[in-house]
Amino acid sequence: MTTDSAKPCYRLPQVEQLLQHQALVVYIEQLSRPLVTQLIRQTLQAIRESQAFKQSGTHGIDVIAAIEKNCQHRLKQRQRSVINATGIAIHTNLGRSPIHPDIWQDVSPLNTGYCNLELTLNDGKRGQRNGLLPDLIQSWVGAEDALIVNNNAAAVYLTLIGLAQGKEVIVSRGEQVQIGGGFRIPDILKMSGCTLVEVGTTNITTAQDYLDAITENTAAILMVHQSNFSIQGFTEAPDIHQLVKNLPYHVSLLVDQGSGLSDESYSSDEHSIRYYLNAGADLVCFSGDKILGGPQAGIVAGNTHLIKTLAKHPMMRAFRPGRIVLSLLESLLIKKLNKQHSGKGVAERLIDAIPETQFWAEQLAQQWQPFARLEQLEAQVGGGSLPSERYLSYGLALQLPGKAQSHLDRLRDLPTPIIGYLNKDRLMVNLSTILEQDKAIFVQQLDHYIRSFQA
Ligand SMILES: *Cc1c(COP(=O)(O)O)cnc(C)c1O
Repeated sequence: MTTDSAKPCYRLPQVEQLLQHQALVVYIEQLSRPLVTQLIRQTLQAIRESQAFKQSGTHGIDVIAAIEKNCQHRLKQRQRSVINATGIAIHTNLGRSPIHPDIWQDVSPLNTGYCNLELTLNDGKRGQRNGLLPDLIQSWVGAEDALIVNNNAAAVYLTLIGLAQGKEVIVSRGEQVQIGGGFRIPDILKMSGCTLVEVGTTNITTAQDYLDAITENTAAILMVHQSNFSIQGFTEAPDIHQLVKNLPYHVSLLVDQGSGLSDESYSSDEHSIRYYLNAGADLVCFSGDKILGGPQAGIVAGNTHLIKTLAKHPMMRAFRPGRIVLSLLESLLIKKLNKQHSGKGVAERLIDAIPETQFWAEQLAQQWQPFARLEQLEAQVGGGSLPSERYLSYGLALQLPGKAQSHLDRLRDLPTPIIGYLNKDRLMVNLSTILEQDKAIFVQQLDHYIRSFQA
């Protein structure tokens, strides 16, 4: 009972007392006690400073609810699983390539215990940390030798500082690209202490353009795959065979292939790692977590002498990955070479499953009518890989009362967030990028969500 004459109460609960509250225990588990303590203090402070509190004290203020709201907000910042319904298989915002569960399990004991990372078991001496990787990469793409670093950006940087510092590096004007947040080829060259020599034009660069630019101070030609975009129409790429044939001995051909495409049949207009190596590129570098489907890593593959030079570089210590990355790559490549399903990259696995996806999409469209409509959609490999390739895929257009944007936001708010997208003000979920292990929870959550409109 409250009356106007009741004296307002200005006493808020103690922090210690609140930490014991049943409703907050779950947040302590998920955020840690110090973070929850901090959130409690901030919430109490905000309440004290509010007009409502100043006027009528704790009356009408739900302290616990206010703390819970702040905890929930903080919890969204924690890393967690999400369901990818974007149709982009390798999505940088969503962690790029998911590792196949078989591979994750394969290396779990090794990573949760001790391992022979730098110990040669055959003689008990200190060894190399690369294990079988150079040999597996050789079998996979035909590289003489290989080196692993933390990501492809590091691979490009290490290659430049290791082989071309203080010298000239020739780059086509059509390949002076920015890859993702702030990784610009001209800047990286400058920071590596190389002099950038630009040749050709945005759309056309020939082998002769490169050859004409070579001086005695040239260390390398750097070719960069055009991630995220493609130039179409009147274009010409250099004849790499002609270039290699005429390349002086002191100039290395370096290729930032980027995507890790290893099989030509996958794409009509992108060259694979093997293509460049066969054509005579000295080193080719690419990401481990794009088409390959492994952990974040950069792989430099090619000439043994150059790889050895890079491996000995003092900065290698700053770029070398740990056993988690190395063991995952090793397991993945063995499965890939043995043609096992788990050895395929995520994009390949999802594209293989398109017929099942179609069947599933038809089923769900039926189940959720009139709120869902079957749609033929375009899926992308993503991650800057194969920018012009699109794959036919299937999904649903969700037509629910209210604004599409608000539904998009609310799906992101679910216990296992569903990441869809808008297309011309329609909410779309592309089913082709939903992983096998996410299907049940996707259906369960969306079913519940859609049913709430069936009243
Ligand atoms: C993706 C990409 C990079 C950056 O690779 P990370 O592994 O993200 O560091 C560099 N160059 C090209 C051509 C790429 O496609």
